[in-house]
Amino acid sequence: MSTTDETVADAATVNGNGAASSSSATEIPVVNPATGEIIAHVPDSGPEEVRRAAERGRAVQPAWAALGYEGRGRVLRRAQKWIVDNKDEFIRTIVSETGKAWEDAQVAEVSYGAAAFGFWADNAEKYLSDEKVKTATPLLKGKKLIVRQAPLGLIGVIGPWNYPFTNSVGDSIPALAAGNSVILKPSEETPLTSIMMERALRECGMPEGVFQTVTGRGATGGALVDVVDMIMFTGSTKTGKLVAKAAAERLIPCSLELGGKDPFVVLADADLERAANHAVFYSMFNGGQTCVSVERVYVEAPVHDEFVAKVVEKVKALRQGVPNGPGAIDVGSLTFPPQLETVRQHVDDARAKGAQVPVGGNPDSSAKGLFYPPTVLTNVDHTMEAMTEETFGPTLPIMKVADVEEAIEKANDSPYGLMATVFTKDLEKGEQVARRLEAGMVHVNDALMGYTALELPMGGWKTSGIGSRHGAGGIRKYTKTQSIVISRFNLKKDPHEYPYTGRNYKLIGRIVKFFYGRGARD
Ligand code: NAD
Repeated sequence: MSTTDETVADAATVNGNGAASSSSATEIPVVNPATGEIIAHVPDSGPEEVRRAAERGRAVQPAWAALGYEGRGRVLRRAQKWIVDNKDEFIRTIVSETGKAWEDAQVAEVSYGAAAFGFWADNAEKYLSDEKVKTATPLLKGKKLIVRQAPLGLIGVIGPWNYPFTNSVGDSIPALAAGNSVILKPSEETPLTSIMMERALRECGMPEGVFQTVTGRGATGGALVDVVDMIMFTGSTKTGKLVAKAAAERLIPCSLELGGKDPFVVLADADLERAANHAVFYSMFNGGQTCVSVERVYVEAPVHDEFVAKVVEKVKALRQGVPNGPGAIDVGSLTFPPQLETVRQHVDDARAKGAQVPVGGNPDSSAKGLFYPPTVLTNVDHTMEAMTEETFGPTLPIMKVADVEEAIEKANDSPYGLMATVFTKDLEKGEQVARRLEAGMVHVNDALMGYTALELPMGGWKTSGIGSRHGAGGIRKYTKTQSIVISRFNLKKDPHEYPYTGRNYKLIGRIVKFFYGRGARD
């Protein structure tokens, strides 16, 4: 497949080798959610195909690892350039299967992809190189101690539909940089971007079989967990629990990036114009389908009405429609058909319990695409699903709170803990509030952008996940730790070995007393 337009033209089947064939019953149609058109079919891979992919991946992994950081980095840097050189094809493919705006794809997928290929090429060695350790243990003095990170072997990556590059291929990059082979199972809703990247990586010199895409539904993901050495999962908390159980059954490590319900706190001294712009952008960006999007807002009473007025005016100005090109629209369609019902349900539930809807809230039932209008809800509380469950749509519920204490209490009243934001001009206070918010990443006077700092760990607290992506932990999770102890200056026999004698007993006792016998000084 070279462009999505070709796929639209012949509705071909696209397999992991990028080859086209005619469609059959064991295939999954890929739909453009903004237009309702079928644009391709992909194989619904069964356990046998997954097992064969695993054999291929395992066979080529040692040679890939043997290329070293420099050799692997060369391929990754070529992929970085490929993304920049083929930006339009890349964006067109993502937009065709997600319905998002071109700008959404440019900011969160092209920029992320280009940055991530370079970052992991440049930093893998720094995060994974051997560490020499000095021990305080007396019997090991003089020995050489090394901590080494070795690739785990074959990594399975399972991704969601909201960011077909960033949360699928993106998580494969550090795994590859660490010397592993990867099998990626993208979401059945958005497989075309991953297939395109498999082809692109081959063009960039990635040896055959090192990065493979297997397409399919949940069962294919389940089959993948059964054959890999580690699973990196991004998706809903519900599926994440199933993946964690399956990984536990095999005693393989798993890293989980799951759902969120991110709070956004506006204190009375905040720059309301900046806060309103951020609340609107980061709740509507990508159609609100971002794990770390602004899902609920708490505003201190004195500035509530002014903040709401600003937000409503800005949301009214948003243009929604089919994303035909750059600048065409602000907010695209939803991507996943059941999501339309979830958003409708949350808004209707809030309305029935007394919420007001100053803008949005009335989807056009005759639209061919999956469109829900950008919507603001006010007069909301925690009896409403819109404030407690992940909506994952273009909605912005705003709740009035008495003070900062109530804002913190409400923000933390959630099973999720992915990201959070606080707006205040008092930076000291902002940092203190940030430290009390239960989330893996917190912004003061900003939102979401910390995700793009690849040096910063990004992971969820509570039911939002286990482990993290980015930073040292974002690549070390794809390795196994090996400690090596080298004894350089050797007696024929060490004093603690057989036969046990009274003399040696005393000697060891003296050593213990010398090193540890001083104890507490007060
Ligand atoms: P999902 O859980 O329905 O599906 C995710 C993936 O898991 C898909 O590829 C699916 O085919 C696969 N899958 C389904 N059942 C499986 C099983 N039993 N075993 C293995 N794999 C299985 O999630 P979704 O609807 O695709 O994505 C939306 C969710 O993802 C939202 O909750 C969102 O918050 C979350 N998300 C989180 C992050 C993050 O970084 N924390 C990023 C993006 C999305």
